Parts: sequence; structure tokens; C-alpha cells
Amino acid sequence: MPTYNDFFGPYGGRYVPEVLQPPLAELEKAFQEALNDPEFLKEYEDFCRDFIGRPTPLLPARNASRELGGAQIYIKLEGLANTGAHKINNAAGQALLARRMGKKRIIAETGAGQHGVATAAACARLGFPCVIYMGEEDIRRQHPNVYWMEMYGAEVRPVTSGSRTLKDAVNEAFRDWTANSHDTHYLLGSALGPSPYPDMVREFQSVIGKEIKEQADFKIDAMVACVGGGSNAIGFLAPFLDNPDIRMIGVEAGGRGAGEGNNAVRMADTGRPGIIQGYKSLFLHDQDGQVLDTHSISAGLDYPGIGPQLASLGEAGRIEFTDARDQEALEALKFFARHEGVIFAMESAHAGAAAIKLAREMSPDQNLIINMSGRGDKDIFISAAALDGDNWREFLDSESRRKYVD
Ligand SMILES: *Cc1c(COP(=O)(O)O)cnc(C)c1O
Repeated sequence: MPTYNDFFGPYGGRYVPEVLQPPLAELEKAFQEALNDPEFLKEYEDFCRDFIGRPTPLLPARNASRELGGAQIYIKLEGLANTGAHKINNAAGQALLARRMGKKRIIAETGAGQHGVATAAACARLGFPCVIYMGEEDIRRQHPNVYWMEMYGAEVRPVTSGSRTLKDAVNEAFRDWTANSHDTHYLLGSALGPSPYPDMVREFQSVIGKEIKEQADFKIDAMVACVGGGSNAIGFLAPFLDNPDIRMIGVEAGGRGAGEGNNAVRMADTGRPGIIQGYKSLFLHDQDGQVLDTHSISAGLDYPGIGPQLASLGEAGRIEFTDARDQEALEALKFFARHEGVIFAMESAHAGAAAIKLAREMSPDQNLIINMSGRGDKDIFISAAALDGDNWREFLDSESRRKYVD
């Protein structure tokens, strides 16, 4: 059974106001008990199979491998999970845990809306009332995801404080939880935040790596995943951490290139230690602890912080970090669509871009696995605007003037 960690090297911890200590302690206890209860593990497994559609395939990308002439590439298709990405693995696990704890209501934060969609779907399935906190600015930018969350029956609550984006939504969710923790579970979306969240999210996401252990009938030489907060990467990699023969690569958002505000690279020498939103890790922030602006073409990779376990494994050299720029992600999206018939989410395309470079440097008797954390249907407003310019704008324009009749 996994052991519970407060800290990962220097990072992690539980830096929260006094009032949040009891609910976090209660959650930690429930999580540990659940992980040691075969009945709960069975519930999670059944939910994964019946609702999420697990196991997701491990696709041998033979055409792409041949085209690049290097390593054999395999793609873990998390995009085939219900709701389109890996986020549902964690949302499902925590929602089942909340039910076990006797909670009556679930709240969550969301930035781009992917975690909100996964949470709302899991809540619909399990019959929980659900409130999603979302910055007003994000609500404006991510209308399709707001539409789906409401379709699942969730209430999307606009957050109007601060920059009206993800970090403000997190603050608002913590505020709600502070007042309502007796009957409410806060379903946090990535492998970060105060303990026990980094452990809990890693454990639920580890279903990805555990399946690969069953599916890969070959020697794994390298594994590549994109890193926002770090949940898909840590879930993909954690089951293999004790194998020193595997190179592990985390890919951050290189955005428009170097320079403050142009990217979301925290693991070069750009991120600095800090304690923000309840945990210690590496963040993009200034001398006064003021979080800096970030940019990425992918909405899921622009968070200014990184999960504490990944920060620690990165500094220890166990996981190598690199980045892919917006343009490289778009190229990778086209490459895998053309050669494999698979549309990567814009986030996952960053892993795809780094894998294309790495595979070329490897030999054909070596094997590389990419985690495709999500599928790219959700990104059509970004990818089509970038790759199909005028035609796409013409389509949007005609849609906006279309009269709908029954
Ligand atoms: C949210 C998201 C990410 C980034 O989050 P992590 O916690 O770093 O995994 C990556 N890919 C997809 C498809 C996402 O929706």
C-alpha cells in the first residue's frame, strides 16, 4: 500500500489557516482508510470500467515511428476516457471518497473548465449537487465547457475577485469549504495544494501508469508527459519511479518563447520556491510573492505553480524537464493527426512535440511512451483559428448569423 507523504523533499506540506486543519486531517484519514479497503478499490475499479471506459488503449504508433526513423512510439490514449481527458480519473476517485465520507455536496475550482467538466460529470453520475467556482474571465473565454458543466447539472459560480481566473477560483473554493466542510467535499483538480491532495490525486491518476504496466509487453526506455499542475504526469510516471532504466521527461509550456509572461516554464531556473495556496513548491512569482502572468496556447498548462512531488523529482534529476512552444505543439497536433488518426489535446501536443524530438535521437530498438492526456476536440476554437484562419472565421461568422428553427 502506498505510504502517505506530507512532504516531497523540501516541497509539499499543509500551509493553511487553523480552520482548514480539521477538514484536511479528516480527508487524510478517510483517504488512507479507503486506499486500504478492498471494497473501495473495487468500487473505483468498477466506476473506471463502467463509466470512464477504462482501460484506455496503449496505441503502437507505427506510422509515426517509421516516419521519424527513431524509437518505437506508443501513445496512451487518455483522451478516450469519458469527458475526454485524464481529469475524470481523479474526479471519480474523490467523488467516490466523498460518498464514503457521507458528504452531501461537492465543490471544485476550474480554470479552462476541463476539471469542472469532469467533476460535474462524476457528480451527475453519483447524484451529488455540485458547485464549480470559475473566474469570470475564464467563463468568458471557455464558454463551451461552461455549457457542458451546466448540462451535467452543476452550478457554475463566477468569481469576480483578483484577476478573475484560476487562482481566484481556488481561493473562493477554499472559502466555501471553510464554511461548509461538515457536509461538503472540495474536489481539487491537480496533484498540488495542501496535503493530502498531492498524494490523493497521484493515487487516483496512477491508474494510467498501472494499466501501462499491464499493457506494455516491451522494455520501456522513455516516458513523456506534459506538465501543468502535474496530475497526468505523476499518474503516468509514479508506478515506474523505481525503475532507473526509464528516462522520464516532463514537458512544460514554452509559449511564445523566453521572457517573463511569455510561457509557463517553472522548472528551468525560472521558478522560485514559495508557499502559495497551501503548499510549498516552485512558482513563477516576484520578490513580493506576487504571481506572474503566464502564457500558453493550451489552457491547461498555464498554471504558475507545479505539484510538489514533480518539483522535488525534477530537482533531484529523476524527471528531466523540457518545454515545447505553442508553434511546436501545433505542429505535433498535425503530425499525429496525419500519421496516426489521433487528435491530441493542445496540452498533450506539448508532450507529442518533445517526443518527436526525443524519438529521433533514439534507436529503432528502443521504446518511448507518450501520455496523450486528452483529446483535442475541445481545442477546435484554438487549433482551427491558428491552422485554418479565414475559413474558420468565416464559419464562425455565418454561424452567428444563422437562424435556428425546429
Ligand atoms: C488539465 C489538463 C492538463 C494539465 O493538468 P495536469 O494536472 O498537469 O495533468 C493536461 N492535459 C489535459 C488534456 C488537461 O485537461
